[in-house]
Amino acid sequence: MSDANVKQLREELDSINLELLSLLSKRASIVQEIADIKTKQGVTKFDPEREKEMLDRLVEHNEGPFENDAVRHLFKQIFKASLQLQKDDSKKHLLVSRKKQAEDTVVTLGSTQVGNGTPTIVAGPCSVESEEQVRAVAKALKNNGVTLMRGGAFKPRTSPYDFQGLGVEGLEILRRVADEYELQVISEIVSPSDIELATKYVDVIQIGARNMQNFELLKAAGNVNTPVLLKRGLSATMEEFLHAAEYIVSRGNKNVILCERGIRTYEKWTRNTLDISAVPLLKNESHLPVVVDVTHSAGRRDILVPLAKAALAAGADAVMVEVHPNPAVALSDAQQQIDIPTFDQFMTDLHASKLFPSLVESK
Ligand code: PEP
Ligand code: MN
Repeated sequence: MSDANVKQLREELDSINLELLSLLSKRASIVQEIADIKTKQGVTKFDPEREKEMLDRLVEHNEGPFENDAVRHLFKQIFKASLQLQKDDSKKHLLVSRKKQAEDTVVTLGSTQVGNGTPTIVAGPCSVESEEQVRAVAKALKNNGVTLMRGGAFKPRTSPYDFQGLGVEGLEILRRVADEYELQVISEIVSPSDIELATKYVDVIQIGARNMQNFELLKAAGNVNTPVLLKRGLSATMEEFLHAAEYIVSRGNKNVILCERGIRTYEKWTRNTLDISAVPLLKNESHLPVVVDVTHSAGRRDILVPLAKAALAAGADAVMVEVHPNPAVALSDAQQQIDIPTFDQFMTDLHASKLFPSLVESK
C-alpha cells in the first residue's frame, strides 16, 4: 500500500472521527432534553432498565468486527459520559454555588456583617452553664469589641452520661445577657422540633458537625428566616458540605454561614485536623461566608493563634473560639477553652498580625 493511500485513509478516519463527535454531541443534547423533562416530573434520571434495553439492541445489530463485549463496553462509556454531563449540570445549578450567584452572600447580624470582606470573631463558652458564667464572657467580648457570642444550650455529647446542656433555660440566659451587652447570639439546635422555638431566642441557629446530614433538621432550618451557621461534618467532603447547605438555602433561608471545624484524621496531637484548604475551596465554589472554628479543630489551646492567622490568611470571614471564665471546671471541652486573659491576648495577637481589624477602635 502506498503512502498516498495511507494518507487518504487517515483523512477518511479524521472525518469519521468528526462525524462521530457530532453524533455524540447530538446524542448528548437529546439525553439532556430527556433529563430536563424527567427533572420536571421529579423522577430519577438514571434508568438501568433503559440502559440494558439500548445495549441489547446494539448487540442484536452488531455485525462485527467488534465483539459484543467490546460494543457493550464502548457504549457504556458513552452512557457514562452523558450521565456525568447531567451531574455537572445539576452542580452548576446548586443555589449555594458561585456559578449561580457571583456576588458574596453577606449575613447581617446587628452591627456586624459576616462575609463583607472584613473578618470578625465569634466567641463564647462551649456550653452555657450559668448566667454568671455567660455574663463574664459577654463582658470580655464587649471589652474586645466582639459582637457575636456563641454558647451551647443543647449539647450533642459523645456520651449520654456527659452534660447535655441547660436546654431552653440556657437559651433564655443567652438572650438575657446578650441583650444586656448588645451582643448577637449563636446557639446549636439539635432537633427539628426546636427550630421554631430557637428563633425566639437566638440570632443564629448553629447546626453542629454531628448533625450536618440530619436532613430533617436542615429542612426545618431552611423553613425559617433566622440565619444558620452550618458546621462541616466530622468526615464530610466539600461536596457533602455544600449539599447540606443547599438543603437549607433551597427551602428559602439564604442566610447560611459555613463553618470549617476540623475533620477526623489519623493525627492524635490535635482533636481534629484543620482543613485549611477548605477555606479557599469553599470561598471559590460558594458565595456563602466561611467561618473557621479553631477551638474544635485543634482541641488544644496552644496553637489557636497561628490557626486563626492561617484561617484569616486563607480568606475566612470569621474565626470562632471557645472562651470560659474558668476552663478547668467547664462542664464540656474543659481542655480546649481559653480563659478571659488568654482571650484578650488572642485578640491582641490577631490585631497585631494585621490580618484582623481592631474591633475596639471601631467601637
Ligand atoms: C460546638 O461548636 O459547640 C460543637 C459541638 O462543635 P462541633 O459540632 O463542630 O463538634
Ligand atoms: Mn465545644
